[in-house]
Amino acid sequence: MTKPVLSLSKGNLEALETSTAGRASRDRHVGFRHPAMTYTAAARAPYYNTGARNRKERPMDFELPEELRMLRETVARFVREELIPLEPVVIRREAERGLTDTPLIPPEAEEKLKSKAKEIGLYGIDVPEEYGGQNMGMLAKAVVIEELKTSIVPFTLPPDSPNLWMLRESCKGDQVEKYFIPYATGEKKSAIAITEPSAGSDPAAMQMRAEYKNGKWVLNGQKIFISGARRADFIIVMAVTDPKKGSRGGITAFIVDKDTKGMSIPSVFSTIGEHAPYAVFFDDVEVPDGQVLGEIGNGFAPMQNRLGVRRMEIACRSLGYARRCLELMIPQANQRKTFGALLADRQQVQWWIADSFQEMEMVRWITWRLAWKMDQGGHDWRRDAAMVKLQGSEMVGRVVDRAMQLFGGMGMSKDMPLEYMARACRVWRIFEGPSEVHRWFIARDLLRNGMPNS
Ligand SMILES: Cc1cc2nc3c(=O)[nH]c(=O)nc-3n(C[C@H](O)[C@H](O)[C@H](O)COP(=O)(O)OP(=O)(O)OC[C@H]3O[C@@H](n4cnc5c(N)ncnc54)[C@H](O)[C@@H]3O)c2cc1C
Repeated sequence: MTKPVLSLSKGNLEALETSTAGRASRDRHVGFRHPAMTYTAAARAPYYNTGARNRKERPMDFELPEELRMLRETVARFVREELIPLEPVVIRREAERGLTDTPLIPPEAEEKLKSKAKEIGLYGIDVPEEYGGQNMGMLAKAVVIEELKTSIVPFTLPPDSPNLWMLRESCKGDQVEKYFIPYATGEKKSAIAITEPSAGSDPAAMQMRAEYKNGKWVLNGQKIFISGARRADFIIVMAVTDPKKGSRGGITAFIVDKDTKGMSIPSVFSTIGEHAPYAVFFDDVEVPDGQVLGEIGNGFAPMQNRLGVRRMEIACRSLGYARRCLELMIPQANQRKTFGALLADRQQVQWWIADSFQEMEMVRWITWRLAWKMDQGGHDWRRDAAMVKLQGSEMVGRVVDRAMQLFGGMGMSKDMPLEYMARACRVWRIFEGPSEVHRWFIARDLLRNGMPNS
């Protein structure tokens, strides 16, 4: 069905193919090896020390493949040239929008960013090749998101990975042409509606009903805090189809197109930071069988997988913000004097820098390991996703706070991105599961199943 519809990062990949260093680097990569890369025994030999040469397996390799390093450099340039100059505009729009949902990036600027990103091959990074994507996987996406998030401009590359995963796992028949492909190419936007007034951390407690009547599904209920609902072409709506079974066979996902009769989006929640999610009401909303996403009653597991993908992304966003903070903290500490001495000479400041760097590095390794597991397939990565989301979102709060303290008054001002970051990242400890729920889940898993092998 499918001729490529997205522009591949041809420049990068061709350069890699023709470069000896690129090929060697690609061939020798084993540890966090991207699936697109081949591995040859001949290439690995020089990397063994005498002891390791006798081993059957090559030790773990912590180096990013050459193609991902090139991708990272492409994104870094995009951030420097396109996003950083937009930051003052975003800060001002966020301060001025008050209780409204005014987009933080001016729409014409967002269009420009999208075409630039497409032109340099940043679209469809985790979209399968048969749908015109680059199929570079989640490690590539992790690298890209971290880099993008070294800027506060809330620009996301289409398609948004969590719903992409859920649609890819669950779309069938006509849904592939109607929803998955336009979503994968960035033509359509979507939202997901899980949370309800009485079900947030515990989505299994949702009340929203979908009943089968006269050959149609009829949806009734209320969802809250639904990000992007007003801009979405369709919303993935989670509803109870069998109250007795609940999350074990009684929750189904539906695709509801915008402007479907009975669905309304009356109000915006003005929350801390950059988000402006919505309340969405469903009043006898009728959808045909063809709008069931996946199997009837079995929507909960794909939804959880989708949440796992966003959890990984939140860790990557946290890494980007933390890196930006460190990039601001280090020169400031080296040039700012108080009481006749540089801040860099104060032990307190040294510890802020040392701790921030170490915490960031630790989050990066568990996040890349998770991305690698996702790319390999066949792993149960739910605990890893909980862990990286928890550690990333808590780490970034500490790092941003230290950076603000180091900058004193300027750290509080809107002339710097730190104040924006502090509010934007606060919500990362809440959505996609609050920290406490992830701690509880990790403990429950260990207490039930014991220590994992690795
Ligand atoms: C900006 C924003 C955007 C959002 N976007 C979306 C979206 O697009 N789609 C969507 O469906 N939802 C979205 N949400 C909803 C979000 O996922 C929920 O707010 C979140 O899951 C928490 O649920 P709750 O608000 O009902 O808090 P509650 O479930 O009431 O929990 C409150 C607090 O109780 C504590 N707690 C809960 N359970 C436990 C436990 N087991 N152990 C220890 N402590 C616990 C935690 O501290 C938690 O913060 C968004 C929320 C925000 C703020």
